[in-house]
Amino acid sequence: MPFDKFAVHKDSPAAEKAWADHEILNAFYGPVPKAPRRTPMRELISTILSHRTTHADEELAYDRMLEAFGDWPGVLAAPTPDLAHAIRTTRWPDTQAPRIQEVLRRIQAETGGSFTLDFLADWPVERGMAWLTDMPGIGLKTASLLLLFNYRKPVLPVDAHVHRVAQRVGFLGPKVSVEKAHSVLLALLPPDAEALFNFHKHNYWHGQQICFFLRPNCPRCPLKGFCNYYQEHYGEATPEALAATPTQWDSNAWGKLPH
Ligand code: SF4
Repeated sequence: MPFDKFAVHKDSPAAEKAWADHEILNAFYGPVPKAPRRTPMRELISTILSHRTTHADEELAYDRMLEAFGDWPGVLAAPTPDLAHAIRTTRWPDTQAPRIQEVLRRIQAETGGSFTLDFLADWPVERGMAWLTDMPGIGLKTASLLLLFNYRKPVLPVDAHVHRVAQRVGFLGPKVSVEKAHSVLLALLPPDAEALFNFHKHNYWHGQQICFFLRPNCPRCPLKGFCNYYQEHYGEATPEALAATPTQWDSNAWGKLPH
């Protein structure tokens, strides 16, 4: 899509602002590593374990589970209270243990016995989303993450960071929920997995690194020229403010980005 960053302003249409956000953050944060961070099975099961749990405790639960029961058939066959004990570092082990076993049962039923999700690569997006979100503990965000990260399907995961940045910049309405934002934001962007992947990662980083929940670091932000929040709090971005804005993330001065 053509893009002229000087033509985008606070009152531009939402799709133009969303695309400007994509283009500017692409240049600011640079390329995103393309390899999926985890295997599909690990992505799915770890997400169940991660609910209201720190990353360290989620990893500990995952490792202990596989240490205790060896593999997915072992986890499925384990007495549920024993599985709950193995994942006790998570927030609700007694809820998550039967969920994990139910998810494994459904995968096994779908594949005829093996524990793989690779059939999702061949399914249309809608079918994959419906199958995943029908499982206990799997919501839109997890299903979208899995389909986008692992199978490069054109969907858009929206978490609290992406949601906050989109609302502050103003291409997402202030009352749109995180759930609803999945379809609203997707409709603003081209149906291209590469662009959606970069949009998700860059806005996620932006929410973590600059557009904080409390006290966003607006002086450092390259989106200020058309951000509603900025203009409501600081007035229109002046040429001096825009000229003083960094054009790239400085990892030497500000630290390495999470991947
Ligand atoms: S200008 Fe401020 S509020 Fe707007 S996106 Fe940037 S950091 Fe967030």
